[in-house]
Amino acid sequence: MEIIASLKDAKKVYKTGDTTITALDNTTIDIHNKELMLIMGPSGSGKTTLLSLIGCVIYPTEGEVFIQGNDITGYSEKKLAQIRLNNISFIFQHFNLINPLNALENVMQPLLLKGESTEAAKKKAILALESVNMGDRLNSLPKKLSGGQKQRVAIARALVTDAAIVLCDEPTASLDAKSAALVMNDLKELAKNGKAVVVVTHDLRLRPFADRIVYVEEGKVSDRLENEADYK
Ligand code: ADP
Ligand code: MG
Repeated sequence: MEIIASLKDAKKVYKTGDTTITALDNTTIDIHNKELMLIMGPSGSGKTTLLSLIGCVIYPTEGEVFIQGNDITGYSEKKLAQIRLNNISFIFQHFNLINPLNALENVMQPLLLKGESTEAAKKKAILALESVNMGDRLNSLPKKLSGGQKQRVAIARALVTDAAIVLCDEPTASLDAKSAALVMNDLKELAKNGKAVVVVTHDLRLRPFADRIVYVEEGKVSDRLENEADYK
C-alpha cells in the first residue's frame, strides 16, 4: 500500500455573518491505494467537508493537503482544477449523469474533457461500462435506468480516466439494499485493482465492505464509533 493523499492538521472553518462553524477540526489522516475507506458520521458531522478537502474542492483554513506527495494548499484554483481532473474522480448520491446523453456518452465525457479522441474515448468507455456489467445498456438514457444502474454508470465514468483517487459522497443513499450492495462491490473491486476509494456514508450497514473505517463526529475524526444512536 502507498499513501496517495493525506491531510496534515487540516481544519475547515466556515464564517457566515457573525457565526463561525468548525466544519472539520484539525485532522491528520492518510489515504492509501488498494483500500476502500469508509468515512462514517451522522448528518452534519463534517463528512462532506472532509471529502471535499481530500478532493481538492475546498482549501483548508489551517493545515495542509497532500496529493501524491504534493502540498496543494498553495496552488491556484486553476492548478487545483487540473489536479482534480488528473487524479480524482467523484461519485455522488444523485449520480450527476448528464440527462440528454446516453450511458456511453456520459462515460466518454471526462476523457473528451482531457482531450482524448472520440474513438479512443469510446473504446475505453465501453470497457469501463462492461466492467460494471452495463455493457448491454450503452445506448440507454439515464431516465431509462434504475438508480442502481445509474450509479454503476457513474462508477464507470469515475474509473474510465484511471484517476488514482475515487471519492464517493453517500453513493448508496438513494438505492435499495440490493443495488447498494452491487455498487459497494463494484467500488470494492476498484480498490482491489489499485485505487484509493473513499466512501462517505451515514449508513452503518455499509461497514462490512470497508477495509478501513473512520468516524466523524461533530467535526472530529477518530477510529472509534462514539455514539451509535446518532446514526439514523
Ligand atoms: P455532513 O456531510 O457530515 O452532513 P458537512 O461536512 O456537509 O456535514 O457539514 C459540516 C458542518 O459544516 C455543518 O454544520 C454544515 O452546516 C457546515 N457547512 C458545510 N458547508 C458549509 C458552507 N459552505 N458554509 C457554511 N457552513 C457549512
Ligand atoms: Mg454530506
